[in-house]
Amino acid sequence: MRFALSLSAFLLATTPALAQTAPQAPISEATLKRLTERLSSDEFEGRAPGTPGEEKTVALLAQAFEKAGLKPGNNGSWFQEVPLVEITASDVQPLVFAGGKTPLSFDYRTDMVVASYRLDPSISLKDSEVVFVGYGVNAPERGWNDYAGVDVKGKTVVILVNDPDWQTEGLEGTFGGKAMTYYGRWTYKYEEAARQGAAAAIIVHQSEPASYGWNVVQSSWTGPQWQMEGAEVGASQAIGWLQLDATKTLFASAGQDFEALSAAAARPGFKAVPLGLTASTSFKSNVRRQASKNVIAILPGTERPDEVVMHTAHWDHLGRCDAVDGDDICNGAIDNATGTAAMVALAEAHAKAGPAKRTLAFMAVTAEESGLLGAKYYAANPVFPLNKTVGGVNVDSLPMAGATRNYGIVGPGKSELEAMLRPIVAAQNRVLEPAGNPAAGGYYRSDHFAFAQKGVPMLYGGAGSDLVEGGEAAHKVYSTARAKIYHAPGDEYDPNWDWGGAMQDLRAYYTLSRQLAEGNAWPNWVAGDEFRAVRDASRAEVE
Ligand SMILES: [Zn+2]
Repeated sequence: MRFALSLSAFLLATTPALAQTAPQAPISEATLKRLTERLSSDEFEGRAPGTPGEEKTVALLAQAFEKAGLKPGNNGSWFQEVPLVEITASDVQPLVFAGGKTPLSFDYRTDMVVASYRLDPSISLKDSEVVFVGYGVNAPERGWNDYAGVDVKGKTVVILVNDPDWQTEGLEGTFGGKAMTYYGRWTYKYEEAARQGAAAAIIVHQSEPASYGWNVVQSSWTGPQWQMEGAEVGASQAIGWLQLDATKTLFASAGQDFEALSAAAARPGFKAVPLGLTASTSFKSNVRRQASKNVIAILPGTERPDEVVMHTAHWDHLGRCDAVDGDDICNGAIDNATGTAAMVALAEAHAKAGPAKRTLAFMAVTAEESGLLGAKYYAANPVFPLNKTVGGVNVDSLPMAGATRNYGIVGPGKSELEAMLRPIVAAQNRVLEPAGNPAAGGYYRSDHFAFAQKGVPMLYGGAGSDLVEGGEAAHKVYSTARAKIYHAPGDEYDPNWDWGGAMQDLRAYYTLSRQLAEGNAWPNWVAGDEFRAVRDASRAEVE
């Protein structure tokens, strides 16, 4: 068996005429290598927004797009200015609960974290009534509303992490079974609480449904917090997380059983429970403004230039970080110099093939690592109307382990783009399969998601796991190595990488984009998907 596989791999490598069952898109591996190496060199200092590394990065990208024959994408400019705000909380007072059996006081960092999206220099939550709102979900298309019949204006809501059916074994259920829907993400919970007028929203931390420990909550919520300007509008005064043990104590003090109420919250028809307590805390906010840039290039369409096929990849990474063996630059070679280089290689390939009927857009976005901020800013301030944006592809971290027999799709079964991609991937002799761990909600963790929220269908792939050379076992070795360098100084360019899998993926994306750009299709989200209603409403404006 092993011999037969190696032999076919050998044939694929040496007899291109036989191997070309799929038309080979003109993606340049040389461009990919050259730009990935350059962008991840120490000269770019890890590409943190607002540093000299940003200036070098965006200048290099504009130059590369121009050389490839593209046009500036933002009304004659290569850049879209993205106003960012950095907020650092200080002098954080304990989170105090009164009105229960015993007064409770929870300390910053050890028991709880709090922050604010507001730009006020000081935040004060005083005697705010506390309501347990279960999973904090309002999903009319699924017949679920945890806020039904309760007014939480000015109150503090306590919310469970993940979505109501996360403990299900399979992927069936109102909220996709064990797969996490957007209703399970903390971003959604804070957004919904703000829409309901809550003064504060506190999420209960539990390691298993969150898929990470308290250390991650603590480290990611206690330093400077970046957001895009505008996010403060309508935001709750305070948002935060509370440790599980502290929460149990809190519920007991209110004469409630946390376990019993959590179980009830997972069942349809759950009603929010006022705990009869009040919450108070206060802190100072130090606000600093900083401008950054998205880079946008287009190949204008010949017949319907107002209809746009989008490609995105984040150019930013972490910059200077905690040193490992004396190296304090998080170069972000895989994450995401590879995806940024892919934007240029894809643009170059399309330019070589000539303009299509629709416009092809290529955008390298900023501040993904701070919460998809560049993509969110674009989605809130689009250059091309989103109701005329056909759909697209996001590239975040290309696979560097060689050619695969499968393609991994993140967020399987969501949009009709998947059905369009399947035969393209099949023509490469690959199988399209769900990627990674659906319970971690990977679809909500990169830039395409900012578009999805506004209804634009976007495709996002993970690494194929079944390597032509070595199968699943070899891939395990690669992914273990990968985990060591993720968000660490070790994410550096390696001339020994095998770009075979990356090339397969990019050729597939090229073919898909070309089809979209030459055709009339308006792919949608599948019926019942969380983003379907938004897309239907937005397309109705222009249809
Ligand atoms: Zn990334």
